[in-house]
Amino acid sequence: MSLIKAKGIVLKEILVGESDKIIVLLTKELGKISVGAKGARKSKSKFLAGTQLFTYAEYIIDYKIGKYYIKEINIIKNFNFKTYDEICYSSYFVEMIDKVTFESIKSEESLYLLITTFNIILKNILDIKQICAIFRFKLMQISGYQPNITNCSFCQKEILDYNNLKFFIEGIVCSKCNSNIKQKSIIVNYTVMYAISYILCNDIKDIFKFKLDELNIKIFYDASELFLENLELSFKTDKFLNTSS
Ligand SMILES: [Zn+2]
Repeated sequence: MSLIKAKGIVLKEILVGESDKIIVLLTKELGKISVGAKGARKSKSKFLAGTQLFTYAEYIIDYKIGKYYIKEINIIKNFNFKTYDEICYSSYFVEMIDKVTFESIKSEESLYLLITTFNIILKNILDIKQICAIFRFKLMQISGYQPNITNCSFCQKEILDYNNLKFFIEGIVCSKCNSNIKQKSIIVNYTVMYAISYILCNDIKDIFKFKLDELNIKIFYDASELFLENLELSFKTDKFLNTSS
């Protein structure tokens, strides 16, 4: 028997049969994996709490004939999100990570981003839309997508004048070129461009250390939504995001 220890977060729960579950875990050691949890839905199961969505735990896993099974769970933290917004956005974040991460590929950075984001949500010190925009830009960068922010996406000239800038799916466009954009775009300002560049240039532990005002949060959030279109993915959970606040 080969037992493996892996620390990770539950991204998804899939119900199987009458009382079993398969959970999708994002782990430090094994990347994203699907793990069987026998009897996890029984009220007296020792796996009941540790296999819930958003749980961060150390999992002792057995590997048999190409499949992972849970043997033991030591919970590190249950992220108990309470408000409608907290639950909606957290569900969206795990869905995003699930969609951009491939099975069994090292994803330590995504895991660290998710844990850091969840801790920030629970601290209740930042607007959830600002948290969401930061999460999107950083996850996109980890996944290999980076917007042009220092030079115009069209003429390639360095941006020196921050008036009349526009942002579209590839990044920034200068005031001289911005009438040529055919795709969807939004007007951005120096503050928002600075916020985006701050996220891209800094470590995950520091990316939540700034606060924007309401107007700039809206522009920043819209820019992150636009940039996300690079992924060409649809999400089940994003339709709930704009129904509150
Ligand atoms: Zn230009």
